[in-house]
Amino acid sequence: TQRFIWPMAQFGQIVNMYQRAHASAERIFGLMDEPDRLAVDPDAEPLAVEEGAVEYDDVTFAYEGEAPVVEGIDFAVPGGETLALVGPTGAGKSTVLKLLLRLYDVDSGSIRIDGQDIRNVTLRSLRQSIAYVGQETFLFHGTVRENITYGTFDADEEAVIEAAKAAEAHEFITNLPDGYETMVGERGVKLSGGQRQRVSIARAVLKDPAILVLDEATSDVDTETEMLIQRSLDRLTADRTTFAIAHRLSTIKDADRIVVLEDGRIAERGSHGELLEAGGLYAHLWGVQAGEIEGLPEEFIRRAAK
Ligand code: ADP
Repeated sequence: TQRFIWPMAQFGQIVNMYQRAHASAERIFGLMDEPDRLAVDPDAEPLAVEEGAVEYDDVTFAYEGEAPVVEGIDFAVPGGETLALVGPTGAGKSTVLKLLLRLYDVDSGSIRIDGQDIRNVTLRSLRQSIAYVGQETFLFHGTVRENITYGTFDADEEAVIEAAKAAEAHEFITNLPDGYETMVGERGVKLSGGQRQRVSIARAVLKDPAILVLDEATSDVDTETEMLIQRSLDRLTADRTTFAIAHRLSTIKDADRIVVLEDGRIAERGSHGELLEAGGLYAHLWGVQAGEIEGLPEEFIRRAAK
């Protein structure tokens, strides 16, 4: 039976790998397609970015055929500042940011960038103004250089190296068998989670977008790598409108503003200090993560344990 179990197990693994690669490919290529479920404005003009100020005005959204997952979301982020989204798993943090990238259209309310409703600008210009640095960085089968230049069509050699340096990635890349020409992705050299993340940061640096969407990685990397990643992110987010989904609150406590989501609604907002003072959900989540509070209500612990 060994002989049958083996190949089947392997087959299962391959299918699984294929599904994962496919899912992430959709995630990234989904950003390039023009899905027909989005309203098309025949008079759409390219987005004109000045400050990179972002405004959500009473935004409500439901996935098809389901109850609303975000409701009455409103906030304004002045250009160059950082807004951190915090809240239990399933609270709607990713959904709020998918709406900014216009993976879906809002059901009611509006989202504006520098005063322009994102439904009235071309999808291409919108997506060119926003870079996403995510948890599961998608690397396609190609060279490291191609993976960094993805989305930027006129990048020269020097700009690629500068971006990699800013992302603290240059050193490990030069140590790969073929340096920047090393093949990665499926069938290529396998990069660690921390390395993949730095490639995606380099990609964002090169793109130099007005707006940055960061979905903090939960993957465990060693302390030194984490420090390198943090340093490159600090560089990337400086003077750029940034949305950060934070899983560990310690990484966002210096954010200009923090919005706490609960069940698709804004439960609280403020600075780290203000929110601690208020003693609400944020303070509870913080307490749980800092290991300070014991005997919390079961629901808070369940929510905080992401
Ligand atoms: P968070 O990022 O805070 O964990 P999400 O925005 O991912 O929350 O999810 C909010 C809610 O929307 C959850 O109940 C989730 O199950 C649901 N949801 C997320 N993505 C989809 C989808 N593509 N289709 C249907 N429901 C979804």
